[in-house]
Amino acid sequence: MTRPVGILGGGIAGLALAARLAHRGHAVTVYDRDQAGGKLRRLTLAGESVDTGPSLFTFPQVWRAYLRGLNEPDPLHLRPLPGGLGVHHTPHGPVPLPVPPGHPLHPHWQRYLRAAAPLAPFLGVLLTTPPRLRDPLFRQAAAALLRVQGPHLTAQGWLAAQRLPPALTHALATHALNAGLLPGVAPPLYALIPALVGADVSRPADGMGALLDALLTFGQARGVQVREHAPVTRLDGQTLTLADGGTARHDLIVSALDPHRLAALRGRLVTSPVARRTVSGVGVYAVLPRPAPLPATSVLPPTDFAAFHVHVRRGALPPDTLTLVHAHGRQLSVLLATPATGEALTLGHPWVQAQLRRVEATLHAPGLLRDALATTTLAPDHYAQGGHPGGALYGPGLPAWRGGPLHPQPYRLTGGLWQVGTGVHPGGGIPALLGGVQIVDRLLREAGW
Ligand SMILES: Cc1cc2nc3c(=O)[nH]c(=O)nc-3n(C[C@H](O)[C@H](O)[C@H](O)COP(=O)(O)OP(=O)(O)OC[C@H]3O[C@@H](n4cnc5c(N)ncnc54)[C@H](O)[C@@H]3O)c2cc1C
Repeated sequence: MTRPVGILGGGIAGLALAARLAHRGHAVTVYDRDQAGGKLRRLTLAGESVDTGPSLFTFPQVWRAYLRGLNEPDPLHLRPLPGGLGVHHTPHGPVPLPVPPGHPLHPHWQRYLRAAAPLAPFLGVLLTTPPRLRDPLFRQAAAALLRVQGPHLTAQGWLAAQRLPPALTHALATHALNAGLLPGVAPPLYALIPALVGADVSRPADGMGALLDALLTFGQARGVQVREHAPVTRLDGQTLTLADGGTARHDLIVSALDPHRLAALRGRLVTSPVARRTVSGVGVYAVLPRPAPLPATSVLPPTDFAAFHVHVRRGALPPDTLTLVHAHGRQLSVLLATPATGEALTLGHPWVQAQLRRVEATLHAPGLLRDALATTTLAPDHYAQGGHPGGALYGPGLPAWRGGPLHPQPYRLTGGLWQVGTGVHPGGGIPALLGGVQIVDRLLREAGW
């Protein structure tokens, strides 16, 4: 039966769920305060189309499972990214992940791969299935995860037990930080990410913006209405109020907003201590006169995880932060992790300049941005506008026991109000939120929607 559904937020999560619900016959309207896409935003810089936000497409099996639910072929033409997860410039030396044959760390990398291998066939299930012990598939996948993680509760604990060389340990631990969590807090699964991603790191042939185009096209073909520049200012039950004073009532509302933002719309008291937020970031996007002589991806982990941790918990800028550098043709992006304080950091800010100097020194690329034809900087204040109030990219940090796929997340708030998206599904990146969309779609179907 066709029923009116309102989705708050037209980021990847909101648009992905909209297409799935419309595919099942519902009349879906998506409301976004700005333009659709959320953190995935396409800009024009020096005449080039530049995608800001996510840049690495991982765990394509989750995307394929999403497509199967729509009976759609894959329009993305995913291309492997040269160098996979990139060169990690640890204090113990550079480590390419995956570590190629012939590299002195290769035998250790192989040992690490073997430790994670039993989980690989089940990862898609873990990311897309509600955690229920009565489901045999979930039971099998959960058992594989528990076997691989052993008695360890955190990524750091699991890595320490593997006794890998410090350079490899440092590079692997960085992947918990990458998801916004510290290795001492993140569940062991985060330490396994480089093994499970393996060499399967890709990007759509036409850039990450193609994902947004695909989701909009799927929705359009199924009658989804996307109302851009339509901020929702209040939510009473299933009735929403828009900034222009208009109201709309839907039988079902699904929020694809940060949970704190949703709570505020419902008139609830919102608390989110800085110490418990995932990280925010500064993204510097540039178009250069010629391609930079750099690998596709370089990662500069913080030198000292503990110092990074202390600073981020206090809301202070860390002395040397987790930095990702992506070079693609004449485009260059430098992403700096920051505490989620909503700060308006500009390119000229002394801390941003110091981090850029660290990048230049580490990558032996002096004057990297000096001749840039155009640059733009997106800072925590930007991410705070449409997301978590402090700009936390993945919402509040969950404790280790709740952070993994074994724990049910608060998808259903009331019979007519559900939630999905980055701040709800642990992990926060595209695979996590597309997995969360499939879980919510299934739970809604089971609840009669
Ligand atoms: C710099 C950066 C790099 C990243 N790199 C990667 C990567 O390499 N790989 C990866 O998988 N992930 C990456 N991510 C994470 C990924 O981009 C996000 O997980 C994803 O884009 C979040 O989608 P979402 O729909 O959950 O939330 P959002 O994109 O935050 O969407 C929420 C939407 O809600 C709207 N909204 C807010 N308030 C209201 C309101 N009151 N009324 C109506 N609408 C409202 C906003 O305008 C926004 O469009 C990265 C993120 C950033 C910022």
